[in-house]
Amino acid sequence: TEDLTFNDPLTFDEGALAARTLFRETFNADADGVWHAPGRVNIIGEHVDYNGGICLPIALPHRAFIAATPRSDRHVRLVSPQTRDHIDEFDLDTVDRRGTDGEVSGWAAYLVGVAWALEQAGFGPLRGFDAALHSCVPLGAGLSSSAALECAMAVAINDMEDLNLLGGDDDDAGRALLVDAARRAENDIAGANTGGLDQSASMRCTKGHALELDCRDMSVRSIPFDLAHDHLALLVIDTRAVHSHVTGEYAQRRQACEEAAGILGVDLLADIDDEQAALDQLPGEVMRARVRHVLTEIDRTRTFIDELASGSLVGERLDRCAALLDASHDSLRDDYEVTCPELDVAVDAARASGAHGARMTGGGFGGSAIALVDESAARDVARAVADAFAEHGFEAPQFLIATPEEPAGKVAE
Ligand code: ADP
Ligand code: MG
Repeated sequence: TEDLTFNDPLTFDEGALAARTLFRETFNADADGVWHAPGRVNIIGEHVDYNGGICLPIALPHRAFIAATPRSDRHVRLVSPQTRDHIDEFDLDTVDRRGTDGEVSGWAAYLVGVAWALEQAGFGPLRGFDAALHSCVPLGAGLSSSAALECAMAVAINDMEDLNLLGGDDDDAGRALLVDAARRAENDIAGANTGGLDQSASMRCTKGHALELDCRDMSVRSIPFDLAHDHLALLVIDTRAVHSHVTGEYAQRRQACEEAAGILGVDLLADIDDEQAALDQLPGEVMRARVRHVLTEIDRTRTFIDELASGSLVGERLDRCAALLDASHDSLRDDYEVTCPELDVAVDAARASGAHGARMTGGGFGGSAIALVDESAARDVARAVADAFAEHGFEAPQFLIATPEEPAGKVAE
């Protein structure tokens, strides 16, 4: 069989150099600074964010790097390795909601959108800027390459425009504010209807920790998450699958949850405390199954966090956590119906080849799965998944090892 593709992250130095070099080649000047923001992977708590539930992401070592310099006018010039042949240009005075003038689209919307959103939040008028992007977050793999762009841009603007939202005693409050701007950029300018999980992870995770994010009020708690201490690793399997119906299905799931909440007389499904009574009240097996996923997933996430907080991931505690990951996947497959053949094959092959537990992560219908494995077994599990993909005639999967890293910030000179 062919070689496995492991996607290694760039170091801060490598990423900053790549962004600075692109900036210099494009704009014939040195950038004032380089800012970075990570992609994320959610460990457990899937499709609960828009129901007011709890999720548990970590920030990946894979980051977007943006080298930038402010301008004296309101002009924005952007370049990325993917668009090297031309520079995308905008004017901050004409950026507006997609559909109003339709001018900003594609990847630039994620960046210009952040400036727009900060102005909407009252931080304007901002100066324009030149910026060069270099990201090593896999695109469209469910690892939030989009939030990485937005959050790197948000911290860059914070520094360039002296918004003073970061550092000091109010650092996390400032980060929460930048999360809102990044989310609005994605929702209103890029036109993707997503919750705040991705941006919160990229802005508010801390190194060595997972982020307990309560999506009811976006409050957070850092949970120590040190798999290496227990000789474990989190293997991320990028299935390379993107199914075209993903947007429509996502909207349908959200709608089903809203409808169910309406029938049950609650604002959010997370408000329900008697699961059985709630399920008995719902019309139809499909709606019951959707709600059952949300309620059991919130429970699993709470239990998982309690387990993490109570000691090392060894012995029976490891078994219980692994079982929660497995149960999460099974619920997403059977009750929420957001998996796909590639995700199910990845998870089955990982489990069969020695992973302690495995599940899809992110929105589903493609994207990535995670497997909790012994450090020494990561390559063997990856090999087994790649072999299973070859047998099924799927495109070869790609892999990365996820460790909990720093949130968005400025690259030290
Ligand atoms: P995900 O966030 O899971 O990776 P999305 O569909 O939300 O997937 O975001 C992917 C989009 O983000 C891409 O289609 C592109 O517009 C933009 N993007 C992300 N990374 C880059 C990059 N390095 N260069 C240009 N565009 C990027
Ligand atoms: Mg995204």
